[in-house]
Amino acid sequence: MFIDTHAHLTSREFDADRGEVIRRARDAGVTLIVNPGTDLEDSRRAVELAQKEEGMYACVGVHPHEAAGAGDEALRAIEDLCTARRVVAIGEIGLDFHYDLSPRDEQERAFAAQLGIAARNDLPVVIHTREATEETVRLVREAVAAYPRWRTAAASPGGRFPAPKGVFHCFPGTPALAWELAGLGFAVSLPGIVTFKNPGSALDVAREVSAEHLLLETDSPYLAPVPHRGTRNEPARLPIIAQKIAEAQHLSVEDIARTTAYGAYRLFGIGSPGAPSIVYRLRNSLYINLTIRCNADCVFCDRKGEAVIKGHNLRIEREPEAAEVIAAIGDPAAFDEIVFCGYGEPTIRLEAMKEVASWVKAHGGRTRLNTDGHGNVINKRNIVPELAGCIDAVSISLNSTDPVQYGELMRLDGSRFFPAMVEFAREAVRLLPRVTMTIVDLNEVDRERARRFVEEEIGATFYTRPFF
Ligand SMILES: [Zn+2]
Repeated sequence: MFIDTHAHLTSREFDADRGEVIRRARDAGVTLIVNPGTDLEDSRRAVELAQKEEGMYACVGVHPHEAAGAGDEALRAIEDLCTARRVVAIGEIGLDFHYDLSPRDEQERAFAAQLGIAARNDLPVVIHTREATEETVRLVREAVAAYPRWRTAAASPGGRFPAPKGVFHCFPGTPALAWELAGLGFAVSLPGIVTFKNPGSALDVAREVSAEHLLLETDSPYLAPVPHRGTRNEPARLPIIAQKIAEAQHLSVEDIARTTAYGAYRLFGIGSPGAPSIVYRLRNSLYINLTIRCNADCVFCDRKGEAVIKGHNLRIEREPEAAEVIAAIGDPAAFDEIVFCGYGEPTIRLEAMKEVASWVKAHGGRTRLNTDGHGNVINKRNIVPELAGCIDAVSISLNSTDPVQYGELMRLDGSRFFPAMVEFAREAVRLLPRVTMTIVDLNEVDRERARRFVEEEIGATFYTRPFF
């Protein structure tokens, strides 16, 4: 299921066949469509369409091109309209210094006013920015500072993600700027430009920014993807764009569809978060969610927040028996790897893990354990010899080479657990075929020192994973 988060189906270009276009979208798996407004009249049409057609949602707002015509009265009407049924955001709003169809001071006035409307009504925003990123980000930062409670109710309590406040549609910036915006609670979306021969920075963003911070859009009727470039675009073409982004992310198109659908759910409240799963697929690997319990409480972990990975809800209410997991796996040889991961620490359920892993090995599959390396402390014995033969690869969270910092990041006694983790890693290198150690990409962690420690002192493979 795909969500087109930006399609102007209220555009005149769809007057002749709007219903057909929506049906074709559904047939292509694009089940939900968000239609932004460009001025007051278009916003009214967007609301009307959304209230009439299943799967359609509206944003209301004044586009920077129309800013000069949007006086106090029009902005008051937008604010009145934003509480209508099926309105999910204020948009599209922003700054366009490329066309300059409205004077820049008028654009800034309308943009700031509508950020205020969104914040006061606790709605997210859909932002258009062109050749004005610096000014756009400045006004966004000002709104975030002026309204500290904006959208905080939409974020999960205890979650590590910032409150979801909006999306920069047709994002023209660099991956670095996209990451900066992610830290403020803003996603970016990429239209068919990613399929163009000259995609500008869009393909870099598709490659380098976590899928959690990306949304899908067609920007219909504009920006039709290759091979339809130059024709009227429509939401049914969204899977072409998703495919390109999936390739850039080294994910399957299902992974991108699910992850971005969850992103749209978080931001707009449309669709559903999905039921908790005990096994979940990413690329061609199958992940096993044995437990959501953990002996650590890492500052960067979202276990106590949403506990969602690439759109998979991992918040299980009951820990599965080994037999249930085995039944859910099906044919283990059909996957690249069967990975014990989850948001909890798998070695807390050592016996169940060993039973499932042995079954996987007996049926031609390969296994991996993602662990904090505290399994020996948790089980009060050296468990590594028990893993030999049923676990092919192990990935250990190193987090830091400094025991004090290690303890702070994982919120436990570093002087006790750091040496235990190192001992586990040394045993794993001795007894298991493949050992990887990872750190989270945090400014305060010394990456180079961690790499040397892993490669030279432990003899494992080093890997860095993004903060969020
Ligand atoms: Zn648009």
